[in-house]
Amino acid sequence: MSAKIISGTEVAAQIREELKKEVDEMKAKNGVVPGLVTILVGANPASISYVTAKIKASHELGFYSIQDDQPSDIAEADLLKLVDKYNKDPKIHGILVQLPLPKQVDEKKVLNAIDPDKDVDGFHPVNVGRLMIGGDEVKFLPCTPAGIQELIVRAGFETSGAEVVVVGRSNIVGKPIANIMLQKGKGANSTVTVVHTGTKNLETHCKRADILIVAAGVPGLVKPEWIKPGACVIDVGVNRVGEKKSEKTGKMIPILKGDVDFEAAKEIAGAITPVPGGVGPMTITMLMKNTVKSAKLHARIQ
Ligand code: NAP
Repeated sequence: MSAKIISGTEVAAQIREELKKEVDEMKAKNGVVPGLVTILVGANPASISYVTAKIKASHELGFYSIQDDQPSDIAEADLLKLVDKYNKDPKIHGILVQLPLPKQVDEKKVLNAIDPDKDVDGFHPVNVGRLMIGGDEVKFLPCTPAGIQELIVRAGFETSGAEVVVVGRSNIVGKPIANIMLQKGKGANSTVTVVHTGTKNLETHCKRADILIVAAGVPGLVKPEWIKPGACVIDVGVNRVGEKKSEKTGKMIPILKGDVDFEAAKEIAGAITPVPGGVGPMTITMLMKNTVKSAKLHARIQ
């Protein structure tokens, strides 16, 4: 039987609808408007398109949002001053510095300068530590891993006691999603294995997975025979494997493939995310969710 296709586009739209209601209620009842600033340094086309999508989403939800564009030759000290300005701005609840930053700026220094209570990206070491501790300590989950967890839960998969295998151990996907799934609590409580290039018998580990999360950045790495029948497969990989002409615009657009051989895997898995249209659309939505949470925490709204 063919797997259920988990549409990140649909789940993201559903979450945004829920968020819109939450924001409308906060505004009406408490007079609180979630505020997000996106700092863009330079004019990297990919960064511009990410920032534009984030600003668009925040407008649609009724946030107070600022796009603060800075020249590519900005001095590190000036960027740090800017971050500090928004740390102190009570109308701003989320600060996002779009990466990459130019060479003269130490990325780590800038990201670490963001107030952890406004770090809606969830990458500040304080928030990484809070995630490790778990429970009430957690404020902001990093957006892509949080989106992965939402997809698994909303697809109706039982995570408690499930064997979760994560392929990849990056700081932005592999490590945080492994940490999220092993926490005690709803939507987690799993038995987690993390595999990487140093792992022997990758296939054996993947075959055990009730929930297989693949974030390697290697197109087609996971073969269909590595998948346990009925498993939930979350393919995080986004790999450009060529170009094609868009039917809509006639312009050349990239052909994207995941880390899993989708066509064959969907005949074995119980549920699977497509690429594109799976994990991708969830990331910005979870950023919006974190900003709403931050506004509530700052205003002490339950
Ligand atoms: P990354 O930093 O390059 O990390 C890749 C991880 O996969 C590393 O831990 C690496 O192991 C492991 N790996 C690579 N090849 C492997 C192999 N042959 N066997 C076993 N493990 C292997 O990548 P990332 O930033 O986590 O991103 C992973 C993928 O997800 C990329 O395609 C990226 O574009 C995509 N992504 C999508 C979203 C989204 O949709 N919103 C967000 C983030 C990332 P080692 O540690 O041993 O090197």
